[in-house]
Amino acid sequence: MKAVPLKIKAPHGAMVMNVEWSDGHLGVYPHDVLRGLCPCAMCQGHSRPIKFRSGGNLELREINPVGNYALALTWGDGHASGIYNFDYLRTLCRCETCKAAAPDAGS
Ligand SMILES: [Zn+2]
Ligand SMILES: [Zn+2]
Repeated sequence: MKAVPLKIKAPHGAMVMNVEWSDGHLGVYPHDVLRGLCPCAMCQGHSRPIKFRSGGNLELREINPVGNYALALTWGDGHASGIYNFDYLRTLCRCETCKAAAPDAGS
C-alpha cells in the first residue's frame, strides 16, 4: 500500500512545507527544494533525470490535490505547472531520516 499525505502544513511565511503521511512519516519539504526540483516541462525541459534549478520564486501560495496521486503547487510568481506525484514527493523529503538515507540528495 502506498503512503499518501494525510495532513499538509505550510504556514504563511514559513519556508518549509510539512506533510504527515499515512505511514506515519513526517515529511519536511523546504520550499527551495520543492521549487528547485519542480518536475514540470517548463522547468525541466525534456531532460532527465530532474535537476535542481535555482532562482524561482519561493513563496508557496497554494497547495492543491490532483486526483489522489499528486499535489499541484502554485508559487508567488504564478508558476503552477508542477505536479508532484506522491512517489516523487517522498524523494524530496529532507527530514533527518531521509537526509541520512540519501546524503547526496539536494542542496
Ligand atoms: Zn516548474
Ligand atoms: Zn523524510
